This record gives sequence, structure tokens and C-alpha cells, in this order.
Amino acid sequence: MAMIIDGKRISQEIKDELKEKVTQLKAEGKKVSLAVILVGDNPASQTYVKNKKRACEYVGIESLSYELPGETTQEELLELVGKLNADPAVGGILVQLPLPKQIDEDAVIRAIAPEKDVDGFHPMSVGALSIGQPGFVSCTPAGIIQLLKRSQIEMDGKECVIVGRSNIVGKPMALLMLRENATVTVTHSHTKDLREVCKRADILIVAIGRAKMVDASYVKEGAVVIDVGMDRDENGKLCGDVDFASVEPVASAITPVPGGVGPMTIAMLMYNTVYGVPRE
Ligand code: NAP
Repeated sequence: MAMIIDGKRISQEIKDELKEKVTQLKAEGKKVSLAVILVGDNPASQTYVKNKKRACEYVGIESLSYELPGETTQEELLELVGKLNADPAVGGILVQLPLPKQIDEDAVIRAIAPEKDVDGFHPMSVGALSIGQPGFVSCTPAGIIQLLKRSQIEMDGKECVIVGRSNIVGKPMALLMLRENATVTVTHSHTKDLREVCKRADILIVAIGRAKMVDASYVKEGAVVIDVGMDRDENGKLCGDVDFASVEPVASAITPVPGGVGPMTIAMLMYNTVYGVPRE
């Protein structure tokens, strides 16, 4: 039977550590703040923003909320980002994605000052990660590293296969696993014999957005399986990219959906906001 990697518990542990750190910072007269910008009324985005604000409140971070109408122009949004960049009272800036069609997301991400880029999406942050320099790391992959470390799962020298090569999950995940000295293979929709490649993995990380696609036939006996997917099954129930019932008996450890990777993303956003650009 596989160990269930409990993202809810681990994310709570991180938020509690951060809460203590914020109390300490406040005692030193330092304030921690996050500006959250939401454009339009996408219900999923509204829920994400609400959860982020709730986490800020728990940890003791001041959240500054900017809710803009769906018809906001790119110029208006860029002007707001510029103001927040220049405001020393604003620590981190988060622009909830996706943005309405009339706005170029890349231009907005590039406009955020790299030292306030708590989502880690700015090309400067991504570049710093790829050459091993300090910078913000994208929250979901950073959360997966914490899940593995805090579950005492060794990464050094292990075969890690990542399914998916998106800019927010697959690619930064590969760079982080390299940093942990894993041997990394990144796969995608053009990969030949995906099953066989996945079966080589000691650690299999799946981020594709296809409900329950990865079953036991993709998994080596005793592998650690991390499921990033947030999909809906045939009954509309939240599920992952991994078929949990099929894989759990084969894996040595596995993340459930919900309650695995999902809660870690917000915890790491809080981490980035509290600690700022890592200096080590
Ligand atoms: P994405 O941008 O759509 O990228 C999907 C990746 O999977 C692409 O690289 C694609 O390959 C690859 N892929 C798709 N179908 C495939 C197949 N049949 N075989 C092999 N590779 C395949 O998705 P994403 O933003 O990375 O998100 C992936 C999943 O993670 C989604 O379910 C999303 O909801 C979830 N997610 C969860 C969190 C969280 O906090 N838990 C955060 C982010 C994302 P190509 O590049 O060749 O097209």
C-alpha cells in the first residue's frame, strides 16, 4: 500500500511556519503585503483569489485587493501594475490568470517588477531559475519539492519523469528536480512510447490536464507518483491526471486529488510573499 502524501497537512504546516515568521517580522517593524489583481468575473478566478486572500489573512499578510471590470484595457492594467511596482508599501504583486482576451498576458507578466513577481512567471525569474541564480520560483513546482522533502523522499540521483512541459508546471519542475540532482526526462504530447518512458521513473510527476490518463501500466513498482492534474471525471467530480485507484497499489507514495499538490500552490505563494526574492 502506498504512503499517501498529505498536501493538506504539509501546506498547513508551511502556513503555520510562515505565520510565526510574519509575527517576528512585524515585531521588527516590517510589514508583509501582497497586491492581488483580478480582472473580470470568471468564477474559477474569483474562487482562487478568495482562497489566496483567506490564506494571506491566516498568515498575517496584508492583502491589497484590486478588482477590475472585464472590459479593463491593457493600458489601464499596465498603469496599475506600474503604480504597484513603484509603491514601497507593496511587497508582492499577483495578477490572477487568465486575463480577458483584449489583454496580452505576457506583456502584463513582463511589466511586474521581478522583485515583486511572487508567482515566479516573469522571464527574469524563469531565467534565474534556469541558470541557478536566486529568484522567485513558480508556486506549484516549488510546492511539489516541499511535498517530496517533507515526506523524506530522496531526489538525489533518482530517475524523474515529468509528463507535461507547460511554462507554469512542467518546465520549472524539470529545473527544480535538476537542482535536486535528479536525472530528469520531460515528456509531452509528441513523446513516443510514453508508457515505457514513464515506467523508467522512480519519481513520476504528471501535469497534463487529462482526467485519470495515467494508470498502473505507466508506473514502475515502488515509484513515487505526483499528480498535478485538476480535472473533472465523467460524473463531474474533481480528479487528477492519475487514475488513483489503479496506481495506488503499485506506487510507494502518491498524492491524492484533491488534497495533494493543490493546497501547496497557495502555501508557496504565501512563502514567496513572506520571504521575497531568495538571497541564498
Ligand atoms: P497545459 O499548459 O495545458 O500543458 C499540458 C501539457 O501536457 C503540455 O505540455 C502537453 O504537451 C502535455 N500533454 C497533453 N496531453 C498529453 C498526452 N496525451 N500525452 C503526453 N503529454 C500530454 O497544462 P498545465 O497548466 O501544465 O496544467 C496541467 C494540469 O495541472 C491541469 O489539469 C491543471 O489544471 C493542473 N494544474 C494544477 C495546479 C495546482 O495547483 N494543483 C496548478 C497548475 C496546473 P504539448 O506541450 O506537446 O502540447
